[in-house]
Amino acid sequence: MAALKTLFLFAITAATALPSPMVLDRKESQPLSSSNAPWDAGATTQFPIHPSCNVTQRRQIEQGLNETVELAAHAKAHILRWGNESDIYQKYFGNRPSLEPIGAFDLIAKGNRDVLFRCDNPDGNCQLEDPFVQGLTEAGYAGHWRGENGTDETVICELSYHTRRSLTTMCALGYNIAESETNVFWASDLMHRLYHMPAFGQHWVDHYADDYEEVVDMAKSNKTYSTHDSEALQYFALETYAYDIAVPGVGCPGPQHDSNHAEVSGSSSAGASPTSTTTQSASAASDIPEVSSL
Ligand SMILES: [Zn+2]
Repeated sequence: MAALKTLFLFAITAATALPSPMVLDRKESQPLSSSNAPWDAGATTQFPIHPSCNVTQRRQIEQGLNETVELAAHAKAHILRWGNESDIYQKYFGNRPSLEPIGAFDLIAKGNRDVLFRCDNPDGNCQLEDPFVQGLTEAGYAGHWRGENGTDETVICELSYHTRRSLTTMCALGYNIAESETNVFWASDLMHRLYHMPAFGQHWVDHYADDYEEVVDMAKSNKTYSTHDSEALQYFALETYAYDIAVPGVGCPGPQHDSNHAEVSGSSSAGASPTSTTTQSASAASDIPEVSSL
């Protein structure tokens, strides 16, 4: 019986091999059972938008996310080109290795989009008064990560459509990097929101610094956090975009300061930006904030 089987197998092998031995020598990269399915079958290549978003909301969120991808892709490209030679890199990440921010930006630029943006305010947070928001005609949150109510979901609230701007206004309308909030733009605001969701932040990107000064100070002290700090990643992406793309070779860095907590020239208070809504400090202290602010 064994001999017969061996003979049978030999017969098959010989018969198969005869017409084209070269074919058998070629290494097959696909499992035979997967037939025609591409290796990345089932990938989520577009950011899912919940049906609760109406047509105009969807368009704005989609456009915002497109700009987020553009912002992240350029930030990565800047690091790949300049690495530690970049003054902007040094400013936000010190001498930390570049692998981490490259990965963080590439996830947004090209990663699987296993998240959901929705507009139906299921947790009621859009109406919450944010104690940090002052001077806005529309009070409340501009959006929030759903936290334990929906780890992979972010709610975009009405306030976003009134306040968030396109990257085409970079360095215009009074904006500068040092004095304006990162959430002026859809692109950076949504980058922040993406990093709250595990598909992008991987429970690794978090808030270790609250604002521009803390981010810059963190880089100076060469803390390991800087390359996975949500604010540092946003500021770096915004400044490289401003300097490389929006106003090439100039950008709009705003007042620079040389030493820790030294003067920010001209400004009398920390929240000096006219477009300032607030810091995102509401969520900064906790590891997994219930609500990702604004
Ligand atoms: Zn946050």
